[in-house]
Amino acid sequence: MSHQEDCIFCKIVNKEIPAAIIYEDEETMAFVDIAQVTKGHTLLIPKSHEENIFELKASTAATLFQVAPKVANALKAAFSPLGMNLVNNNGKAASQEVFHYHLHLIPRYGEEDGFKYHWTNN
Ligand code: C5P
Repeated sequence: MSHQEDCIFCKIVNKEIPAAIIYEDEETMAFVDIAQVTKGHTLLIPKSHEENIFELKASTAATLFQVAPKVANALKAAFSPLGMNLVNNNGKAASQEVFHYHLHLIPRYGEEDGFKYHWTNN
């Protein structure tokens, strides 16, 4: 499995730094975002280091999307959101900050949660 020395998410995968892990299997891991934009904001990642959608193997994408509904439903059961955004930023110009592929699962509670994602550059 590919791993990159200076990658913060590889360090989370290897349990070198702590994270609130809510799901883990051989190939994937989900943990609570350190700066939740809404209650339950979670990141789902492949354990292998693939930078973004431009590098992501089709097999890794398939594995991630087998897990995504399980994590989404676990968050739905835990927090009773009204909806959920799945967000994925690819490249610096698209607001990617951590260059290890990740899906944001963002539970939504209605307008009062005040959350808008980076749909524009404003
Ligand atoms: O999609 P983008 O790369 O911008 O998002 C990176 C996400 O990783 C941010 O939401 C940030 O809060 C999260 N993060 C984290 N744990 C870390 C470092 C970053 O949850 N140790």
